[in-house]
Amino acid sequence: MGYEVIRYEVEGAVATITMNRPEVANAQDTRLIDELDAAFDQADADDDVRVVILAGAGKHFSSGHDLKAIVGDTEPDEWRLMRETPEGKMHHEKVMYFDRCKRIHDFRKPTIASVQGSCIAAGLMLACMCDLIVAADDARFSNPVLRMTGAGVELLVEPWELGIRKAKEFLWTGDIIDANEAWRLGLVNQVVPRDELSARTRQLAERIALVPPATAQLVKDTINQTADLMGQSASWKYHFMAHHWMHNTSTALNALEERKSRTTMKEVFADRDRGDGPSGGN
Ligand code: ZN
Repeated sequence: MGYEVIRYEVEGAVATITMNRPEVANAQDTRLIDELDAAFDQADADDDVRVVILAGAGKHFSSGHDLKAIVGDTEPDEWRLMRETPEGKMHHEKVMYFDRCKRIHDFRKPTIASVQGSCIAAGLMLACMCDLIVAADDARFSNPVLRMTGAGVELLVEPWELGIRKAKEFLWTGDIIDANEAWRLGLVNQVVPRDELSARTRQLAERIALVPPATAQLVKDTINQTADLMGQSASWKYHFMAHHWMHNTSTALNALEERKSRTTMKEVFADRDRGDGPSGGN
């Protein structure tokens, strides 16, 4: 497929997939999610590619799912139309959010997220699907959807990334974790100066590319299997069902009606851009 909202580049043994909607902080709409999926297919099929970097163009890695595409006044696509019913909403999020993210987590080759600026809600979920995260010193991680009734995002990464106690605090307060705190918590592998982010991520990728691909892939698989034996996949499936139960509660539906009744979506997006609000489909 021709890419419009991502860039795909291969240099040596490293493929770099860059989300390229900087005007909306790389908010993830259908097109972006489809192109990411195609780019990972391309990197998978290319035997010369040993490591994949996932990056975001502009000031921010990703502000999450594109709320305007879901409830704004843009022309609805087939997925948005499907969201009229609980069944359709669940199918949309299972295919486009849950499965597409999980395939990045399960991707055969090592992956590194290169994160700067805001990394919010589904942006955080996406970054956490990668094996490693290199953060710029201006990176800010948050998932502020609970106060807007969203039960986290589709794959609840926080307990695995932050530990049980911190995960609850992070989700209940919606507080922002800065790059150094993210490093202290083990959410990111390295913190580097913003202007060195691309080069330092690349350096790390090139070192990993020195490992024979079969070995690197096998060790990735067994480490992921360790998390699976600790219940990661099952906990994500459980959360996905709970998340959808929440979507259909009167609590969530009333909040959605209230949001729709505003004359414009400006307030909602202003909240998001401040980092206080949900990123969208959440
Ligand atoms: Zn959802």
